[in-house]
Amino acid sequence: MTNYDRLKVVILGNSRVGKSAVTVRYLTKRYIGEYSSFKDYLYQHSVTFDNVTTEVKILDTSACKTTACLHDHIAWADAFVVVYSICERDSFQQARILIETISAIKGLRYAPVILLGNKRDLEHARQVGVDDGHEMSLQFQCQFYEVSAAENYVGVSLAFQSLIREARAMQALK
Ligand code: GDP
Ligand code: MG
Repeated sequence: MTNYDRLKVVILGNSRVGKSAVTVRYLTKRYIGEYSSFKDYLYQHSVTFDNVTTEVKILDTSACKTTACLHDHIAWADAFVVVYSICERDSFQQARILIETISAIKGLRYAPVILLGNKRDLEHARQVGVDDGHEMSLQFQCQFYEVSAAENYVGVSLAFQSLIREARAMQALK
């Protein structure tokens, strides 16, 4: 091991887009289906790849009722997973607002963000094109993945890994 560091990741997005499903899939490789959405959950785990171990805290948020609550979540975190559902246009608009808010509070140059379009297994109900997600990621210069927490561990895991990799690189520059 060449290094040891810590990282705080917050999962943001509209309610019911699959924030908890994505988080639990990443941490346990399993998909359970229904998750309580009444409170925030803080998880902690150690992850090793590229010969580096990182202690990661992950805050799976429930709906913030106030702007202050959202700002607290953003201020707390070093890295951000912004989730929308490809079946819900509104959640995509909300993702844009969230990234703009992160940018205003943290400055995107210093805050790695991943834009995650979830529920890609529901292709028949798609309301947000892959191109839309890609375009937003180019605009904000953040990473972008479409995933399905329900069907696939690999995509979710790759997305988290690349966020952690980017965050490590940023931390190394500080
Ligand atoms: P949260 O409120 O953002 O945390 O959303 P949840 O993780 O609680 O998920 C909301 C609902 O969407 C639940 O019924 C999940 O089973 C479902 N869900 C989550 N991810 C997926 C997915 O990738 N595909 C499908 N088909 N359903 C999903
Ligand atoms: Mg939840």
